Amino acid sequence: MDLTFLERDYTIPSAFLYLFAVFSVIIFVRYIIMSGLYQRLIYDRLAKLVPARIISPKYPKDQRTKEIIWSGISSVLFGFIGVLMIMAWQRGYTAIYVDWQAYPLWYMPFSFIGALLVHETYYYWIHRWLHHPKIYKHIHKVHHDSISTSVWTSFSFHPIESILQAIIIPLMVLIVPMHLSVLLTLLMIMTVSAIINHAGVEIYPTSWRRNKIMKWFIGSTHHDLHHRRFTKNYGLYFTFWDIWMDTESEEFDEKWKKMSE
Ligand SMILES: [Zn+2]
Ligand SMILES: [Zn+2]
Repeated sequence: MDLTFLERDYTIPSAFLYLFAVFSVIIFVRYIIMSGLYQRLIYDRLAKLVPARIISPKYPKDQRTKEIIWSGISSVLFGFIGVLMIMAWQRGYTAIYVDWQAYPLWYMPFSFIGALLVHETYYYWIHRWLHHPKIYKHIHKVHHDSISTSVWTSFSFHPIESILQAIIIPLMVLIVPMHLSVLLTLLMIMTVSAIINHAGVEIYPTSWRRNKIMKWFIGSTHHDLHHRRFTKNYGLYFTFWDIWMDTESEEFDEKWKKMSE
């Protein structure tokens, strides 16, 4: 991977603005392309072939522009945090590494799964806090204005929520050694899972509910119930915090069975 961009001095305003613009555009265009492809290739196809899997057939079309605008603002903030992360990396403040031999190979999947679990825990509790009545109306309401969700809802957050969501990644790499490829995979998983969970179509097979590992994954039906019921299903990737804290919707099992038939 070409890392020459690390040699530039981003304290020079023009260099900072250039990288900031590049990151913001990449993140926003990636959101548009991935969401658009998912809508076309998965949602539209399943709507024709297996209409029973469509969770939100009544997604209001006029909601889309608003969600894309909020997502654009989120992309800019993610880009900004990305540049700060690069600057911290240049100064040796982060534990990001690129040498494949710096740590044993098993450490890569270990750090990846560990980062997902830390992110899950952080998100679950931040999300509960965002639903506190005094906080909710100022920040999280933007995301919940979408009761029926779609792929376009995936980055639609109030700017404060976007920062809260993104900040965990630089905080983690300040402490935990992470290979650059693990970090990039993590960023990709964040986007893909946000799209899957908001797309309004259940893609997971029924058999996953009985599978010892796959049953822990949050899918579209799970998160859709969060948008409709507000005080249930706070999780991000996995269901365990909701189960432990007794915040999983009692409708979930039945609805999931119905959606995945
Ligand atoms: Zn959501
Ligand atoms: Zn919420």
